[in-house]
Amino acid sequence: MDSEFGFELSVCQYAEEHWPPGRQRQQPLIVARQLGTKHRRWDTLVLVCDPDGLRQRATFGSQRLDSDLLHVVRHAPAEWAWYQDCLPDPGYPWRYVREAVHRAADRGVIERRRQGNRIELRRRFEYPEWVEWIIAIENKPDLDASAARQLADQLHSDVALALADEVWVATEQTDNAIAPVLLEDLPVEAGVISVDPTRRGPDAATVRWQPKRLPTEKPGTRILERPTGGSHGASACRFEYDSPDWKAAKRREIAERAYERGWRSYIDSMRSDCRHFEIAETDAAFRPVCRAKNCHQTPRQCSSSCREFEPEPPTWRQGGWPIDGGPGKGLTRVLAERRDRQRPEQE
Ligand code: SF4
Repeated sequence: MDSEFGFELSVCQYAEEHWPPGRQRQQPLIVARQLGTKHRRWDTLVLVCDPDGLRQRATFGSQRLDSDLLHVVRHAPAEWAWYQDCLPDPGYPWRYVREAVHRAADRGVIERRRQGNRIELRRRFEYPEWVEWIIAIENKPDLDASAARQLADQLHSDVALALADEVWVATEQTDNAIAPVLLEDLPVEAGVISVDPTRRGPDAATVRWQPKRLPTEKPGTRILERPTGGSHGASACRFEYDSPDWKAAKRREIAERAYERGWRSYIDSMRSDCRHFEIAETDAAFRPVCRAKNCHQTPRQCSSSCREFEPEPPTWRQGGWPIDGGPGKGLTRVLAERRDRQRPEQE
């Protein structure tokens, strides 16, 4: 495989089409990539959604609701009330809540009115608990010794925190009877799936180890420092706890970002306005192609520092192409439409 990025796109495509591996899909899914918390970002995320909840979520629009907006829409009352009376104490100054009330009203997700010098609000729609299950996948196509060590530390931390319901490692399929990753010191709670990034379809992946469901509703342990080991390694492990409320809030925020971005938003960080940029269908997934370098480029290569960048000629933006852009804009639109198909229509 030519890059970890390419492998990641294959895993996302597989998850979108065939998750859960080897079983019939019962619920709608949202797949996203490169999301998580300040301390941990996962390569691929699969959200298993409640169908009614997902439809109800669509009434809030395709843009994410950040933590301040979530605080407002989740607690907005059915009847008019002063915001400081009806919303729980946020733990930070009320003026930020007031700003969030105005932002939420400007987006049309709550109603707002002024009574004297007080701002009142009431809800338009009830915010649903639309995500039932979060699956976090770490993609490791090649597992050399240092990647394996790092991976083991990451997975032990993921299991201890239990922010996702399941954690998995996706590794590239090999001819070995035992996937090399299984020989590493990984937590038994983590699942292992091997993926053939050159194929598409349900058989493109094989489960090597089933994960255990993690206790997301219990306090999580954040490992801050591990013992260094060795014969004199008497250093203590340092950790702190995260409450179930903190975890539930983080899960909602992650889900909101996943809802907005999906996994095809990589194109937003690439130079799709370059004349050499194309999206091509490979055997496994649609992937960006650079016709100048003749390769599947990564977002890092395809950035403003690329020396081979050449803007689309102005003539490409006329004639057959829509007036608001050339082929690059067209590709961005196509990927956005595919992302939107994962989300239900607004009711
Ligand atoms: S030449 Fe550079 S900017 Fe243009 S598509 Fe290739 S990698 Fe991207």
